[in-house]
Amino acid sequence: MIQRLMERLDASPTNFQAVQTIAEALEGAGFRRLLPEEAWSIERGGKYYMTKNDSAIFAVIAGRKNPSEAGFHIISSHSDSPGFKIKPNAEIYGDGGVVSLNVEKYGGAVLSTWFDRPLSIAGRVMTRGKDALHPVTHLVDFRRPVCTIPNLAIHFNRQVNDGYAYSVQKDMKPVMGYFDEEEISLMKSEGGLVKSMLGRELGVDPKEIIDYELSLYPVVRATLTGVNEEYLQSPRIDDLSMAFTSLEALLQTADEETDAWRVMAVFDNEETGSGTKQGAHSPVLRSLMERFVALAEGEERERFLRAVANSFMISADDAHAWHPNYSEKYDPTNHPVIGGGPVVKINANCKYMTDADGSAVFRELCREAGVDCQYFVNHSDVAGGSTLGNILTGQLDLRGVDMGCAIWAMHSAVETGGVADHEATACVFARFYSC
Ligand code: ZN
Repeated sequence: MIQRLMERLDASPTNFQAVQTIAEALEGAGFRRLLPEEAWSIERGGKYYMTKNDSAIFAVIAGRKNPSEAGFHIISSHSDSPGFKIKPNAEIYGDGGVVSLNVEKYGGAVLSTWFDRPLSIAGRVMTRGKDALHPVTHLVDFRRPVCTIPNLAIHFNRQVNDGYAYSVQKDMKPVMGYFDEEEISLMKSEGGLVKSMLGRELGVDPKEIIDYELSLYPVVRATLTGVNEEYLQSPRIDDLSMAFTSLEALLQTADEETDAWRVMAVFDNEETGSGTKQGAHSPVLRSLMERFVALAEGEERERFLRAVANSFMISADDAHAWHPNYSEKYDPTNHPVIGGGPVVKINANCKYMTDADGSAVFRELCREAGVDCQYFVNHSDVAGGSTLGNILTGQLDLRGVDMGCAIWAMHSAVETGGVADHEATACVFARFYSC
C-alpha cells in the first residue's frame, strides 16, 4: 500500500493531476464516470464517480438499501496543497537575458523551504474550443526541473539565520533561465515564455492558449527515511496522503456489498478556506447526495433529510505530530506521535467537528480494525488550524469526526509522516466502508 501511496504522490504534483490519478484508479476498478450536465441512471451496487472543475472528485458505491434507511458513509479530504501559482503575464526580463516569473502564494506555505530546489511546473491549460463557452482543457506537467528560486548569499543578508521575513513578491520569483535576443523576441511574439513552453509541451500553437492555472512544485520523489524506513517523506502529504488512503480503502472494499452508500469526497481549495464551487463550503457534495437519493428512491425531500440523519462523515486531514525539538509547542497530555496510529482532532471552540459522539464512533472503528488511535488537542495557549469538517457541516448537518495522520512540517515543500500510521488508517477506513 505504501508503495502505491508514494507512486500516487509522485504522479500528483497539483490538485488537477491528483484528481486525474484518482480517476484513473477508479476507472481501473470499474467505476463509471457521471457527467453533472447529463441525466444519470444508477443501479444498486453500482460504482460511480464525478469530478468538479477537474480539481475535486467524488466516488460513490450504491448501497443495497435506500439511502434514507442506511445513510452515506463518507470520507472527505482535499486535493490542494500550499505553494505558488504563476500569474498571467508572468515574465520578468532581467539582465543577461535572464527570465524569471511573477508568482502568487497559494495557501500557507513555509516559504523558506522552497529555495534552492529544482522546481517544475504543472497544472491545466485552456485552449480554444468549439465556441467561447467551451474551451478545451489540457493537463500539463513538465516533470523535469525547469526553474529554481535561488537564495540570497549570507554575505548580503547576515541576519538570515536570526529569522527573516520573506516577501513573496520580491524573494520568491523563480528563475527560468537565460536566453539570447532572438529567443526572447520569439517568446514575446508567442505571448511570453510560459505560453511558448506550454505550446511546445502540449504540441499546440501558443496563440491558441487562452489561459492557464499553473503551480510550481519541487522535483523530489516520495521516499522512505528513518533507520527502519518508518517515515514517509514527500511533498503534498497534506492532504493527498488522506485522499489516497481513502481511495485505497474504497478500492479494497469495492466488491463488498453493503447496506450503506460509500462516498469518497476529495474537495479542492481547503488551503484557502474552501470557498470555491469545488470546495467544501459549496453545495457540491450535498447536491450529489440529493441526486443519488432522488434516483434511488424518489424526489421527496424528506427522504434526503433522513439519509443525512443516517449518515456519518470521517473528515480526514493530516494532523501535527509531536516534534522532539519543540515539545513546548504541544499539549502536555495529548500530542500524537508518528507511529502511534490515526489521530482524532479535538477543539473546545469547535474548530473541528469532532464531539464525543463522533470521536466514539471513530475510536470504535479503530478498535474493531485492531488499530491504536491518538488525540490531538492544541496547547491551550496556541491557536490551531481548521479543516474541512466544520465547513461541510454548514452545508450538511452530518455526524462526524475530524481526524488525520500525524505529520511533521505541515505546509513545508516536503513533509514527513509515518508508514505504519497510513497502513493503520487504511484499515480503519476500510472497516468504516464495510459496515
Ligand atoms: Zn490539510
